[in-house]
Amino acid sequence: MLKKSIFEQILSGEIDSEILYEDEDVFAIKDINPVAKIHILIIPKKKIKTLNDIKLNDSKLISHMVLVGKKLAKKLKIDKSGYRLIINTNSDAGQSVFHIHLHLIGGEKLKNI
Ligand code: AMP
Repeated sequence: MLKKSIFEQILSGEIDSEILYEDEDVFAIKDINPVAKIHILIIPKKKIKTLNDIKLNDSKLISHMVLVGKKLAKKLKIDKSGYRLIINTNSDAGQSVFHIHLHLIGGEKLKNI
């Protein structure tokens, strides 16, 4: 059997983490090593290793992740002040968990990229 990603282990309860949001397709947790006051990860339940592996039939899932990011930003009241949604891909971008996830970062002034 393929090794479970850390996010699959969180979803199955093998690793303890508070689930902030969950629906049929995605869930969200706080990042264990936040880079800003608000740093949440929106994770698809379906394991896709990197953005390079998405297929046309994942389009709805990817847009759903963005919509959940928007919804959480509003719930956390950072929609007006601003936030960033990021998907790191492979080593130059610093991807460390090979199960795609959308970083929702905000709650303070972020450095320009
Ligand atoms: P990336 O570097 O884009 O692959 O992002 C992986 C993120 O997962 C990093 O920001 C880590 O801090 C975060 N992370 C790793 N393990 C955990 C965990 N057990 N709970 C929450 N976040 C985690």
